[in-house]
Amino acid sequence: MNEVPSPYQVLLYYLYTPVEDPEGYREEHRVFCEENDLLGRVLIGREGINGTVSGTTDNCKKYMDYMLGDPRTEKTEFKVDPAEEHLFPRLSIKAREEIVTLGLGEEDFSPLETTAKHLSAEEWHEAMQGPNTVIVDIRNDYEHKLGHFKGAVLPEVRNFRDTPQWISENRHLFEGKKIMTYCTGGIRCEKFSGYLLREGFEDVVQLDGGIVKYSKDEKTQGKDFEGQMYVFDKRIGIPVNQVNPSVVARCVACDTPCERYVNCANKACNEQHFLCEECEGKTERFCSNECREIIRAKLAAEQ
Ligand SMILES: [Zn+2]
Ligand SMILES: [Zn+2]
Repeated sequence: MNEVPSPYQVLLYYLYTPVEDPEGYREEHRVFCEENDLLGRVLIGREGINGTVSGTTDNCKKYMDYMLGDPRTEKTEFKVDPAEEHLFPRLSIKAREEIVTLGLGEEDFSPLETTAKHLSAEEWHEAMQGPNTVIVDIRNDYEHKLGHFKGAVLPEVRNFRDTPQWISENRHLFEGKKIMTYCTGGIRCEKFSGYLLREGFEDVVQLDGGIVKYSKDEKTQGKDFEGQMYVFDKRIGIPVNQVNPSVVARCVACDTPCERYVNCANKACNEQHFLCEECEGKTERFCSNECREIIRAKLAAEQ
């Protein structure tokens, strides 16, 4: 294939690795990113680092070389997408206690100690066909709504940290089954699948590199992923499935298939919802009548 190099790239990565001094490392990282015009979000914690950045193809290469040349992060695996421009409005680098918050408190552990077996895209797709499997989507509900693996279960929680509680209340859904966990890039699964093993579930597997890596696999070509993958940059949704694609999202107003995500016109709500262009005039981008009334009342009070 004759590919024209793209002017920009977007990188996604995570690595569980001990970081001695997250604050100091954060500062060092920030300087490097600023000097090389990289934008995006990076989280640094004692347990590792998780980031997504965009920059010119040259600067992205410098960034990867910088990470791979550092003994702390030399094992990072980058997922690289071409881009036409920066995909983030700014740079945010934060030091946090944890890079994935599962709310385990004292019970917290490192995926370096316990994590489930990683499945390649092909192994994953094969395992999906098993009669006794349950596929768990551990992303947020707005990500799930745009697209997910066929038949996947979405834990009914507001925050990821509430998932352990939900699991304990719904053990019957998982007992005696092969539990397959997946997320966008794989970072949540490292910990969540380890958590399931520690809870006594025996047959647990995770999708290696998440949907991002699955979407790039040349053999499976995204098969049996329904809808699009939600991403946390300007693109919002990107296609995954080149074999049997479908649209699962529906316009909130007319219920026709629609993958156009908008934010609620009530800024305090800001809820992301699907809205087709035809319905935009009708709803004025309010996610609900409640939000419409809040803004009406506010405008009336200002007059
Ligand atoms: Zn509509
Ligand atoms: Zn709203």
